[in-house]
Amino acid sequence: MKKILITGGTGLVGSSFPNGIKTSSKELDLLNYNHSYEFIKNINPDSIIHCSAMVGGLYKNMNNPAEFFDKNISMNSNILKIAKNLKIKQFIGFLSTCIFPDNLNKPFEEDDLHLGPPHNSNYGYAYAKRMFDVQVKAYNEQFGLNYFNVIPTNVYGINDNFNLESSHVIPGLIHKVYLAKKNKTDLIVWGSGIAKREFIFSEDLSKICLELLEKYNDNSPIIVSSSQEISIKDLVDLIVDISNFKGGVIFDKTKSDGQITKNTNNTKLKTILPEFQFTPIEIGLEKTINWFYNNYERARK
Ligand code: NAP
Ligand code: GDP
Repeated sequence: MKKILITGGTGLVGSSFPNGIKTSSKELDLLNYNHSYEFIKNINPDSIIHCSAMVGGLYKNMNNPAEFFDKNISMNSNILKIAKNLKIKQFIGFLSTCIFPDNLNKPFEEDDLHLGPPHNSNYGYAYAKRMFDVQVKAYNEQFGLNYFNVIPTNVYGINDNFNLESSHVIPGLIHKVYLAKKNKTDLIVWGSGIAKREFIFSEDLSKICLELLEKYNDNSPIIVSSSQEISIKDLVDLIVDISNFKGGVIFDKTKSDGQITKNTNNTKLKTILPEFQFTPIEIGLEKTINWFYNNYERARK
């Protein structure tokens, strides 16, 4: 059996892999090249699935562009050099559909990544991730590697970051509904609700990565999404329903909506994995909400 190292193994995506050697930032701090090189050399993995990153929702991105840029550039550059220097056979990294150009006026395809500036709300994260795309391409070309990046849409699931300020929309709303129920208050949703997003359950993403490790022989990036959009307003209705919340819902229009749409074209993924069935959002939300209520004390928040 392959020995797979999963960096960021404590996070939303990393923790959703059924097996593999999963590391936290305490054991493996990817901002430190020498320490990381020695650590990974000792493990001697066949494959690396690189889930470590500085990650956050719209509002954390808006407030921390420099840190998002610096940390992601450093972590990505270090892990790629280490993988190449240790002659690791397989490598999967993560870009994001958040990094595509704004105002493209069509569903995103893999080749569109660098066609224009990203949305201004997350340019620090977006340009760092775009540079990883460039770096992986350059390493493949110059060093004869076959490493690749996936481009997932907005991910949610068990072990997500449920912090009220820094989280993505799904964990943020699940936590806010929990508190509104407990304190018998209205639910305040940030933004107007008109923005649309695609979501993927974290377990679907890890299954897809493991299948791609076996079946994908190319090294260009692949969009990983069901390509089904839902408005934030409809998402709120689903979370409210599943959580059995009976209070009022108020949209705070003074807060940014972020990019209005991030619709994707997943033809490439469907061609490689034609049989893959995505978890319907109602089922994924139910599992995530149940997990949050049953693990409130230990949930990241
Ligand atoms: P996450 O839940 O925030 O987890 C981030 C992981 O990175 C944690 O395990 C964390 O370890 C680790 N990490 C942070 N700083 C590190 C460092 N200096 N050295 C080593 N590890 C470090 O993020 P995620 O949602 O799982 O994201 C996984 C990947 O998917 C990222 O590349 C992200 O950009 C990408 N992605 C995520 C989404 C999304 O919606 N979440 C969407 C598209 C793409 P500790 O907990 O031990 O500090
Ligand atoms: P994005 O997909 O990178 O923009 O990240 P998010 O997961 O943070 O989604 C942002 C969208 O959800 C915006 O349209 C927000 O207005 C909306 N939203 C509504 N309530 C919340 C919330 O509590 N937290 C976050 N992060 N976004 C929210």
